[in-house]
Formats: sequence, structure tokens, C-alpha cells
Amino acid sequence: MDFKDLKCSPNLILRLTEAGFDTPESLLYHYPTRYEEVNPLPFSSWKKGDKIVIEGQIIPPVKTVRVRPTLQITKFLFQTEENIFQVTIFNRPWVSNMKSVFTLFGKYDGDLKITATQYNGQKMIDQLGIHPVYALRKDVTQKDILHVLDRLFERFETAQILDLPSSLRTAYRLLPMKQALKFIHRPNSMEEVNQAARTLKYEEFLRFTTKLRWMRDERIASDFGKIKVFDRRVIEEWTKHLPFELTDGQRDVLNEILDDLQSSKRMYRLLQGDVGSGKTVVAALAMYASVLSHHQAALLVPTEILASQHLTTLKSYLPTSIRIEALYSSLPSGVKRDLLSRLENGEIDIIVGTHSLIQDEVKFKNCGLVVADEQHRFGVKQRQALGAKGDKVDFLLMSATPIPRTLASFVFGDLDVSTIKQYHVGKPKIVTQVLQGNSIKPILKELLDEIKKKTQIYVVCPAIEEDSELRNVNSITASLKKYLPKSIAIDQLHGRLSNEAKDNVLKNFLNGKTDLLVCTTVIEVGVSIPNANVMVVYDSDRFGLSQLHQLRGRVGRGSVEGKCYLLSDSEDPLTLERLNILSETDDGFTIANKDLELRGPGEMLGLKQSGIPSFLIANVVRDINILKTAQQDAGEILKSKDPEIIHWLTLLKNSQNKDQAFLD
Ligand code: ADP
Ligand code: MG
Repeated sequence: MDFKDLKCSPNLILRLTEAGFDTPESLLYHYPTRYEEVNPLPFSSWKKGDKIVIEGQIIPPVKTVRVRPTLQITKFLFQTEENIFQVTIFNRPWVSNMKSVFTLFGKYDGDLKITATQYNGQKMIDQLGIHPVYALRKDVTQKDILHVLDRLFERFETAQILDLPSSLRTAYRLLPMKQALKFIHRPNSMEEVNQAARTLKYEEFLRFTTKLRWMRDERIASDFGKIKVFDRRVIEEWTKHLPFELTDGQRDVLNEILDDLQSSKRMYRLLQGDVGSGKTVVAALAMYASVLSHHQAALLVPTEILASQHLTTLKSYLPTSIRIEALYSSLPSGVKRDLLSRLENGEIDIIVGTHSLIQDEVKFKNCGLVVADEQHRFGVKQRQALGAKGDKVDFLLMSATPIPRTLASFVFGDLDVSTIKQYHVGKPKIVTQVLQGNSIKPILKELLDEIKKKTQIYVVCPAIEEDSELRNVNSITASLKKYLPKSIAIDQLHGRLSNEAKDNVLKNFLNGKTDLLVCTTVIEVGVSIPNANVMVVYDSDRFGLSQLHQLRGRVGRGSVEGKCYLLSDSEDPLTLERLNILSETDDGFTIANKDLELRGPGEMLGLKQSGIPSFLIANVVRDINILKTAQQDAGEILKSKDPEIIHWLTLLKNSQNKDQAFLD
């Protein structure tokens, strides 16, 4: 079916396609985000705070006052069949144009007072029932969506919609897909909505997990690794020389990795652990194992500063006989040429670098292991390009956004997952405080005291330039320079600076030449500047919880407790409650779980890079039981001989939906 079949105007078709609705069916999967129920209650049962709807007429005069440039308050008397109410409405002075009877929606404030939220000229009786509310995209309105869906439902019999296999439908008493879609968009009761949601959630999870399982099976069947031969006792012996004792958690994950390296299976392993949980040393020992087996190893990092920090760290974790180098874009060409030729001749064991490692000129003698730190910063393509520089390279990806185990195998369905669950003693403490008002003023004195004590400070903003309502690096830098004493050295850092400029800014900060660094989230990845112990985040509600947790992981890296101030001008209690989670816990798992629940895996982990879909209706945390069922069923489906299931599976395998990107 296309939009022309539904007699949509060219203008509407243009707006729909620009908003990403390519077919009428795609609107079917744009589920309502909520429903409004319009059910008038008799006045006698009204309580203060109730949502109400009434029909009536204005008794003039209508009075409007402008309180602030952005706030107008309008008041009038409203006569219904039973009563006269005093109505207040914000920013809708045009209500005075309503001359005849109209419908008013709002909240009852008691004493015959109403705060109205909406009104319209339609009859109340025509508006009763349940109304879907859709998230809007670009120039597509509620009315557009309702209009197209109306037309579509008129000829719904001809639409091609794949039903779940009937054996599953019967087993879980699910609805046929068409009925579920009808109920979700045009429900007669909330009961219908719930029934439909159950079916659609299961279907969504089942499609995704089946696809994941299938692709993973295919890969395992065809993609063998190379057995790496090395003596584990050498590594065990070496751990005694580390500057600290490995925790049991670190030992466990190290063993999982070494098992993979020694097996004929190709390793695709995700190592997850909270910020500061000590992933680097585990990666270092894995690379050591690769070197012992006469293979080189590469460590891919998102920034050059991190490359230089990792170079130092790796040297401190590994025997001096291991030849470790870092490739920087800023290296003089002679030095670079020499380094590249040593890498190609096998005179370098471990190379650390940014995506510059992917360039054609970088050649290995025998690369056996690729480790990607802060893996969410790299696309699948980049990792694979690096992997293609060796033969059947093993992959270790590291992530500081740990996901609970029940979800990890699902979200990262294609990867094996190792998790560092336990912290070593001395994991830094960070005190986090949420401050309403989005202003630095209330904490200015504390900040100045910290600077006097030579503590350095990060000030994080969501934007770079003054092109939105958000606090931005440029204007915050300018105003801090204006209001703070001249003796305080202020610098700024963001993604639009050249790599060289970025490195310079960070070096100055690292060397203590800068007191206060105004920056974007470019600092989020694992740099460690022990003296920078205080962080202020403007518009903190604009960030995800896990991202804020990562950000604050930059402070508290020395021996002193770190401090993090989350500023926000939001007045929404839910937003503030969400931010407060960070002041209550520093457990990355709890935080990630909350984030997953609120935003879904795609958005939380960065849909682009990870390719994990944002589920349209299912919620990976709240609907965990449906998810588990679907996961089990996926295993059965792939083995099934039932012709109907085989048909369903074939269509699924051939379908080109976004779910796939992750594994391509
Ligand atoms: P992340 O997992 O965030 O990459 P790092 O590997 O950078 O964490 O480790 C954070 C800090 O903890 C480093 O200073 C490291 O030396 C230290 N560390 C790691 N493992 C241990 C341990 N077992 N005992 C004590 N300190 C450790
Ligand atoms: Mg790290």
C-alpha cells in the first residue's frame, strides 16, 4: 500500500516521508505514547485535583494580564448547565473569541475554580472515549496521523501484515496482529490497549531476539578463530609484579578472556565494568597473552590523550620486554614512518592509537587481538576495519556502562559478555548534589575555595555555541572570565577544536596550568587528571543518567573525595527525582538499569554506534518477563520444523529492518 492509495495530498505525503514515514504501514508501528480518556464526571463527585471536562459558555468579560514576556494569564466566568465556574488559563488569550458553547478541559481546584489546559469548539459528546496521543515528528501533526490511520483502517483487509505463528499465538493467548494494531490505535477501552500491548511487545521482542540468535549461530558456524598458544602460568606469575593485587572479579573475567584466546572460537567479548572498576589491567594482561602467543595486539582508544595515558599505564602493568608504542597523528613524519615499519616487521608488540590505526598505511606483521576501549565511541565498521588487519583477530570490547546480566545477553546478543562486578578497595568516592536553578552562583564561594586549594574544576555544558536555549561553552567561558578574578586561569574544550588544539588544552589542564576547564562531554571518556576533583554540569537534565555517571567518573581520581554538582532549571519533579538517583547511588549497574528503563537501550547506548533498536512499545526493564519468554522461544523457533514457523522465519530473515545494523 502507498500513500496515494489512501488519497493523501502531495503536501501531506511530502511531510510524512520527510518525517521518516515511508509507507502507511510505518504509521501503524508509530504507536501512541499515551491515551487521553474523556469521561465527564457528575459535579457532585468532583474532588480537588481531578481532571475534568465540561461544556458551557463564557460570561464576559474575559480578562488577560501579561505577567512575564512569556506568561499571559486569562480569567473568565464559565457557565455550564449546572454551575458557574471561575476559569484560569495560561497563554491562551484567544479563548475570548469563543462566543458560543464550547468544551473545556482542565483540573478542578475546588471552590468552583478551574485551571483549564485546553479547549475546543467541538461538542463534548463527540469527544468522549479514549483518544490516542502520538509523538510528533517534524511537520507531521496529530491530525495528520489520525487522518492517515483512519483511511488505512478503512481498507485494512488489504494490508499485508505478518502474523505470529498460530502455535505461539494460542500458547500465550495473543491477538492476531491486525486486531492488536487496531486496538492500540483505536481502542474502545483501556482493556483493549493492554491486550494489544501484550501482543505487540511480545512480537517486537521475538522478532529481535530471533534475528540476533540466528545471526549469532551463523557467525559461530562459519567464523572460526585461531587458537593462541601460550602458557597461562607466565601470566599468573606476572600478576604478582603488578602494583596491586587483582580482585577476584578481575581474575574471573581475565580467565574467561584467556579461555577464549586459547579456544578455536573467535572471541567477540564485551568486558563491562563501572568507571574505575579496573578494566585496563585486564585488557593489558589479555594483550600480554596475545604477545606470548607470538601475535601483536592493538588497543583502540577514542582520543589521543587517552592513548598517551594508556601507553604509560600499559608500560607500568607489563614486563619491560614487551615493546609498546602509541601512534599519534601529531608524530613527525620520520618518526611515524619508522614506527609503522617496526610494526610491520613485528618489532612492536602492542600498539595504542585512535582510529588513525585504521588507515591503510598501518600494517601489522601478525595482529591477533584488537581491544577497543570505550567501545561505544566506535562504530562496528571501525572495529572491523582494524580487525581486518590481522587474520581471524580476536575482539575485546570494553564498556563503562554496565548492563545487568539479564539484559546484557539480549542487548549485546551477538557478543559474549564478561562483567567486573566487584570494586577494588580505594575506588574513588564522589559526592553528588543536584542544584535547582542552573546557576553557579550558590556554589561560587565553594568553587573559589577549591581553586585556592589548587583543586582544578570541570564545568560541563551541553552545547558549544549560542544556538540553542542550552548553556554553552562559549558564553559560560565568557561570563566566568568576566566575573571571576583575573588570577584564575580559564580554558575551554569541545569537539569543534582541532585535534592539536584539544591536546594542548588537555595538556595544560593536566599540567595544572588551567584552573577551570569549560567543556562539553568530550571529557567523558577515561582521562584521568587526579587534581581535577570538582565538576559542575549545567542543564544536567539534558544528559542520560549513565552519561552523567561516566562524566562524574572524571573526578575523585586522586586520594581525595570528588565533588559533582548537577545543575538544572527543570521544575519537573520526575526529572529532579531522576537526577537525584545519582546523589543516592554510585553503583553503575543501578544507574544503567534505571537509564535503560527510562530511555531504552538504543538511546542509552547511542543507537547509531550500537545499532540496538529503541523498542517501540516494549520496555526492556519493565517487560523483562516477556523478554525472557521471547528469548527462550527464539531458540525453539530456530530449530522448529513447523511449516508456519519456518515461513515466519524466512520472512523475518529477509526483512530489512533497522534491528540489523548492530551485526552487519
Ligand atoms: P576503568 O575500568 O574505568 O578503565 P581503570 O582500569 O582505569 O578503570 O582503573 C581505575 C584505577 O583503579 C586505576 O588507577 C588502577 O590502577 C586502579 N586499579 C585497578 N585494579 C585495581 C586493583 N585490583 N586494586 C587496586 N587498584 C586497582
Ligand atoms: Mg578505562
